Amino acid sequence: MRAKEKLYIDGSWVSPVGSGYLDVTNPATEELIGRVPAATRADAGQAVAAARRAADGWGRVPVAERVEYLARIQRGLAERTEEIAATITAEVGMPLKLSRRIQAGLPVAVWESYVKLLGEYAFEERIGNSLVLREPVGVAACITPWNYPLHQAVAKVAPALAAGCTVVLKPSEVAPLSAFILAEIIHEAGLPAGVFNLLTGTGAEVGEQLTQDPDVDLISFTGSLRAGRRVAELAAGTVKRVTLELGGKSAAVVLDDADLPTAVKATVAACFINSGQTCTAHTRLLVPERLYQQAATLAVAAAGAFAPGDPLNEQTRLGPLVSAAQRERVRDYIRRGIAEGAELLLGGAEPPDGLATGFFVRPTVFGGVTPEMTIAREEIFGPVLSIMACRDEDEAVSIANGTIYGLAAAVWSGDPQRAEQVACRLKAGQVDINGGTFNLLAPFGGFKQSGYGRELGAFGLEEFLEIKSMQYKL
Ligand code: NAD
Repeated sequence: MRAKEKLYIDGSWVSPVGSGYLDVTNPATEELIGRVPAATRADAGQAVAAARRAADGWGRVPVAERVEYLARIQRGLAERTEEIAATITAEVGMPLKLSRRIQAGLPVAVWESYVKLLGEYAFEERIGNSLVLREPVGVAACITPWNYPLHQAVAKVAPALAAGCTVVLKPSEVAPLSAFILAEIIHEAGLPAGVFNLLTGTGAEVGEQLTQDPDVDLISFTGSLRAGRRVAELAAGTVKRVTLELGGKSAAVVLDDADLPTAVKATVAACFINSGQTCTAHTRLLVPERLYQQAATLAVAAAGAFAPGDPLNEQTRLGPLVSAAQRERVRDYIRRGIAEGAELLLGGAEPPDGLATGFFVRPTVFGGVTPEMTIAREEIFGPVLSIMACRDEDEAVSIANGTIYGLAAAVWSGDPQRAEQVACRLKAGQVDINGGTFNLLAPFGGFKQSGYGRELGAFGLEEFLEIKSMQYKL
C-alpha cells in the first residue's frame, strides 16, 4: 500500500490543508494499492504562489545551469525505471513488459531529448533592427491524464523547466503514483524551492482552481474533450495561454496496393496497445471493398492473439482497463455497436472467460461499420476495432477525416509516393506511413477538436516561451 500523505510545494513535502484523500486501485486485482491527498483550492493557491515567487529567479538561471539540473533529473529517472514500470503497471494495468519500454523508458528518453535540445536551442535571433528574444511564459500548470501518466507529465514538465517556467503539476487522480516518484527525483536534483510543485486532487476542484488562478500564466492540459472544453472556457477569464491535447478517433487507411497482412496486424496492435487506452490508437481500419473479407479475417486472427490476462505475466499483451467506470463505458459502446447494426466479428460486452476479477474487456472487432454509427464517431478508449469498407481512395480520405477529431492517422500503400499524397490529405497531427514509428522529436498534437498546441521536441519547448522583440535605432 503506497500511502502518500503530503504534497510537494515550495521545495518540501507539506501536509495538505484538508484531510481528504483519493484511493488508487489496481485494475487487474481490484485491490486498493495507494492513497493520495485530495488537495483543495487552498493547497492549489499555495502551490501557485510558490511557483510565482520562484518564476523570476528560475527564468534567469543561465541555460547551461538549467541543462545541468535537467540532466540530473534525467539520471534520476533512468535509475528508477524498474520501480516506475512496476508502479504504473500496478495503477494503470499495462503489461509490465510494455510498461518498462513505454511507461518508464519513454519518459527517460523524452527528458533526455530536452537536456540535449536545451543545450542547442537559440533563444535569440536578429531580424533587421530587432533582437527577438524567447522568454519563459512564467507559471505553468500541467494537468495530465492516467493512460501514460509519467510520459504525459514529462512531456510538459521537461520543456516547461527547460524554457525557464516554474511548474505546478496536477496528475490524474486515477493514476497519480508515478508523479510522486518524479517529484522525489526533482527534489533530489536540488531544484530551487517553488520551481516544481506537485498537487494531487480532482479536476473539478484543483484542476479548475489552477485554470482560473490569475497567477497561472499557462495551462498545458491533456485529457478528455469534455474537460478540455471546460479548461479553455475557464482559462479565457484571465486570457491564459492554453495547450490542449484531447481525444482521437484515428483511422488507418489501407490502399488497394498495400501489404494487407502487415497493415492489418500493425493496425490491430496500434488499436489495442494499453488496452486501447491511447489517444492516438488506430481504432478505425479503412479498407477497399474488395479486400474487406480478407482484412476482416486477418483482423480477427490478429486481435485473437491479444488474450487478456495478468499484466505481471511476461506473455500478456492485453491488460485490464484502468477502472470499473472505464470498463462499463467500453462495454456500453460494444452494446451500441451491436444495436446499431455493426457485425460483431470477435469479442463482445461479456467479461472474458476466467477473469472474474479485474476490469478486463474482450478484444473486440466490429465489421461492416458505417460512418454514422456511434462506434465510428466517438472515442471508445478500449480494445475495440471498427473495420469500414471504402469504395475508393477519395471515400477513404473522406471517412478518415469525417470525425470531430484529428489527432493521428496511418496510411498503407505499396507505392510510397501515393501513400504520401494520401497522408497529405488527412486532417491529423501525425500520420504514420507504412508503419512509420513514433518520433519523440517530432511535434505531437491534434487538428480540430483533438486540441491545439504541440508537445515534444522544439515545438513542445516553444509552447512555454513568450516572444519579445526589442528594436534598436540603426
Ligand atoms: P479527463 O479529462 O477526465 O482527466 C484528465 C485530467 O484533467 C485529470 O488530471 C483530471 O483531474 C483533470 N480534469 C478533469 N476535469 C477537469 C476540469 N473541469 N478542469 C480542470 N481539470 C480537469 O481525462 P482522462 O479520463 O484522465 O483521460 C482520458 C482522455 O485523455 C481521453 O479522451 C484521451 O483521448 C485523452 N488523452 C489525450 C492525449 C493527447 O495527447 N491528445 C493523450 C492521452 C489521453
